[in-house]
Amino acid sequence: HKNKLIAGNWKMNGSLAANAALVEALKQGVGEPACDVALCVPAPYLAQVQSLVAGSPLALGAQDVSAQAQGAYTGEQSSAMLKDFGVRYAIVGHSERRQYHGETDATVSAKTAAALSNGITPIVCVGETLAEREAGQTEEVVKRQLAAVIHVNGHCISEIVVAYEPVWAIGTGKTATPAQAQSVHALLRAQLHHAASEHAAGIRILYGGSMNAANAAELLAQPDINGGLIGGASLKAPDFLQIIAAAR
Ligand code: 13P
Repeated sequence: HKNKLIAGNWKMNGSLAANAALVEALKQGVGEPACDVALCVPAPYLAQVQSLVAGSPLALGAQDVSAQAQGAYTGEQSSAMLKDFGVRYAIVGHSERRQYHGETDATVSAKTAAALSNGITPIVCVGETLAEREAGQTEEVVKRQLAAVIHVNGHCISEIVVAYEPVWAIGTGKTATPAQAQSVHALLRAQLHHAASEHAAGIRILYGGSMNAANAAELLAQPDINGGLIGGASLKAPDFLQIIAAAR
């Protein structure tokens, strides 16, 4: 079995000074973690954080990747460029990109393939909105979103990470209960088994949405929760370190 993965998604936060202080504090406190740890930082800071994390157990991640390999795509970063900076993980299809940048399941599928083509592990986000949950559509929505990345041509499905992030739990302080999260994770696991039986057990399914130092242990104890994708709490070293310590 793979280690659990704790990934911080800094979103559009940070500065040269704040990043240096945060990463220094993480390096001081992290020891030899029982889980894998990644920091998904804003693109302008990839070079800075690459050198800050060198030689530490902290891996570098990006928050997005272009679906295109190169060319006239103003503002985008290709997976080859990310690879140049030692990026190991790229978040793909975060709900904020689906919502504010119109990313569809097809976009997410193409970005997943682009990341894998350069050996970057995509962290593919799925999750229902509050309206979808209240309309009883949670299962249908997350299954559709996951199906879009299971059948990306020619890649080994075991090289992806899935993150279940209920949109209503992101940045709201309203965490899914461990039972609510586990029940969706079990559905996703079953879908992975069906589509990729020999690889399904090795695919990590992270939970994201107001995960914090106080609720992490209980969420991470669920059988199908293999880590966390953490926003706000990843910006505070003591909180993020406590979450890392809870992942064993
Ligand atoms: P919060 O942890 O701030 O709720 O954000 C979750 C998230 O969107 C991580 O990608």
